[in-house]
Amino acid sequence: MAFRKKFAPRRKFCRFCADKDLPLDYKRPDILRDFITERGKIVARRMTGTCAKHQRQLTTEIKRARQMALLFYTTAHSSDVKKKTTI
Ligand SMILES: [Zn+2]
Repeated sequence: MAFRKKFAPRRKFCRFCADKDLPLDYKRPDILRDFITERGKIVARRMTGTCAKHQRQLTTEIKRARQMALLFYTTAHSSDVKKKTTI
């Protein structure tokens, strides 16, 4: 299954352009979480459909959120994963 598609083909759009009220802010990690992988990586623009302008802002806000400990840098920092991998 090397070339398995990750998503069903669906029209991609920038969520921040579509919804002007959607805050792009480090204080909203619940929203930012949609744009990072479960391992804490920022999801590429071609996967999420976010426009260049908003992807740039998003990157900054995610990095800010990480510094404020609202998001994690890697899996090792995530409390959910730590619970699962108790030695
Ligand atoms: Zn946009």
